[in-house]
Amino acid sequence: MEIYGKINTKMREAIHFFASELLTPQLKKHIIIKLKFTRKLPVCGFTEVDGYNSKGQPREFTLEINHGMSEKQTLKTLAHELEHLRQYAYGEIDERGTMWLSRKMDHDSVPYHKRPWEIEAFKAEERLYRKWLQMKNS
Ligand SMILES: [Zn+2]
Repeated sequence: MEIYGKINTKMREAIHFFASELLTPQLKKHIIIKLKFTRKLPVCGFTEVDGYNSKGQPREFTLEINHGMSEKQTLKTLAHELEHLRQYAYGEIDERGTMWLSRKMDHDSVPYHKRPWEIEAFKAEERLYRKWLQMKNS
C-alpha cells in the first residue's frame, strides 16, 4: 500500500493497521491512498475513488479528512473511511451511489444514519479504534 500526503508517522502507522485489519495482504499491496486534510469540510471525512486496476476494480483513493479534529476523532475517522475504501475495493458499493451488495439502491433516498454502508462504517470505526488502542497499550 502506498500513502501520499502530509501525515505524521502515527497516522501513517494507524492507516496501515486499519488496512491490514480490513483487507487481505494481496489486496492491500495494490491500494494507493492520497490523503488530504481539508479545513471546513462539512463532514468528518470523505472517500473518493481515483483509479482502477485493469479489471475495473477501484484501487486508488483520495481520503479527505477534516483538519483540526482531536487525535481520537481523526483516528476514528480514518478507520471509518478505510471501511468505505474496503467497501469500494470489494465492490460492495459503487461510486455513483446506486448499488449496495449488488442490489440497486438510490443512496439519496435513505437517511444518512440508516444507510447500511454507514452503519457498517460506524461499527468498524469503534471496533478498529479499540483494537488500535489495545495494540498501542500492549
Ligand atoms: Zn461514512
